[in-house]
Amino acid sequence: MANRLDGVARTVSVLGGGQLGRMMALDGARLGLDVVCLDPAGQKSSAAPVCRVVEGSFTDFDNVVNLEGDVTTVEIEHVNVDGLEKLAEQGRPVHPAPSALRIIADKAVQKDVMAKRGVPIGDYEKVEPTVSAIREATEERLGGFPVMLKSRCMAYDGKGNAVIQSADGIEAALQSLGKAVEAGGVYLERWAPFKAELACIVARDRKGNTSCYDVVETRQADNICRVVVVPPSFPLPESARIEAQRVAECAVRAIEGAGVFAIEMFWMGGDRVLYNEMAPRPHNSGHLTIEACVTSQFEQHLRAVSGLPLGDPSLRVGAAAMINILGAASEEETLEALRPALTVPGAKVHWYGKDSRPGRKLGHITVTAPDMPELRRRLVQLGEPLDETDV
Ligand code: ATP
Ligand code: MG
Ligand code: MG
Repeated sequence: MANRLDGVARTVSVLGGGQLGRMMALDGARLGLDVVCLDPAGQKSSAAPVCRVVEGSFTDFDNVVNLEGDVTTVEIEHVNVDGLEKLAEQGRPVHPAPSALRIIADKAVQKDVMAKRGVPIGDYEKVEPTVSAIREATEERLGGFPVMLKSRCMAYDGKGNAVIQSADGIEAALQSLGKAVEAGGVYLERWAPFKAELACIVARDRKGNTSCYDVVETRQADNICRVVVVPPSFPLPESARIEAQRVAECAVRAIEGAGVFAIEMFWMGGDRVLYNEMAPRPHNSGHLTIEACVTSQFEQHLRAVSGLPLGDPSLRVGAAAMINILGAASEEETLEALRPALTVPGAKVHWYGKDSRPGRKLGHITVTAPDMPELRRRLVQLGEPLDETDV
């Protein structure tokens, strides 16, 4: 359908062929768009069973420039931005804009841009990766320990983060970030004593119209997202919910281009919300939109980048939760974790078809319910009861 409409891209090229590319391709097929993913040879591509995959690296300039398609987008932000800039120079549409990807690829630059635009943000400081510089910045300007040390580039699933509890832990924290330190440097963030974490997806089409999804609660353990719940399972004040949407929209205005943008935030209590980071693409916090919303984040992203109008982001269920399935010791053990979801009402299983590795995101389960009490009962049946958030 979509690829026969005037002014709409027929082929959407996606840098990356992981689970996000796969879920984009599934919605693309339904809309009648051809989704083509660029993914390296020699590894199992999650998108391969559902769309065409061109073998190549999304971090390689030539591979990016030679990718054919009416519009190029991303499912990962760690890509060759020079290649995307070249495409844009040639008049080929790239969404989101290469400038947005450049800003987001470096977390410290991302914070600089957001701070300048008035997005509420915790204190942070770029530092040399030395014990003395980290100690001085922490004790004199960032409220003391604990403090969060982050690598500026190539971070995901908390892999570029290290919590430093005291000056004695600085050396070990630097070592734990290893190569990341050499690649792009580090910066420090003041510890955020948040009450809960929130996320919100904002979509922007090629004409500049925007649309905002409901605010969700995200639950992290060991820096990695485990569970997402909508509406938040604790009494989030209405003023804080509105503030979270305002912060998310304000952050998206600071960068250019079409697509969906996921904004992670800290709820500090009252109506105080701080920006954490943004992903310029569909995001783990939005997986539940597949079952819970009229338009999934994947369809919304494709609509946005290909020139279609945005779809309706509203919830079509009373409550929903998403549980990430992380790799256990073996694939068999990981699959066992999915078994209860095959029989619980309202539960849907998503398996990404990736190589199994302990701790890796291999799939997810979404559970929908008419209301929060029923959602809680279904999560108990799944063996994933929702602990009360202490607010
Ligand atoms: P993602 O997979 O979301 O891209 P990431 O590797 O970019 O993760 P962050 O989002 O920076 O990592 O941090 C991961 C988690 O660490 C946050 O969701 C939060 O739980 C915790 N965290 C990050 N920054 C701080 C901070 N300044 N104070 C307290 N906790 C923090
Ligand atoms: Mg991140
Ligand atoms: Mg994050």
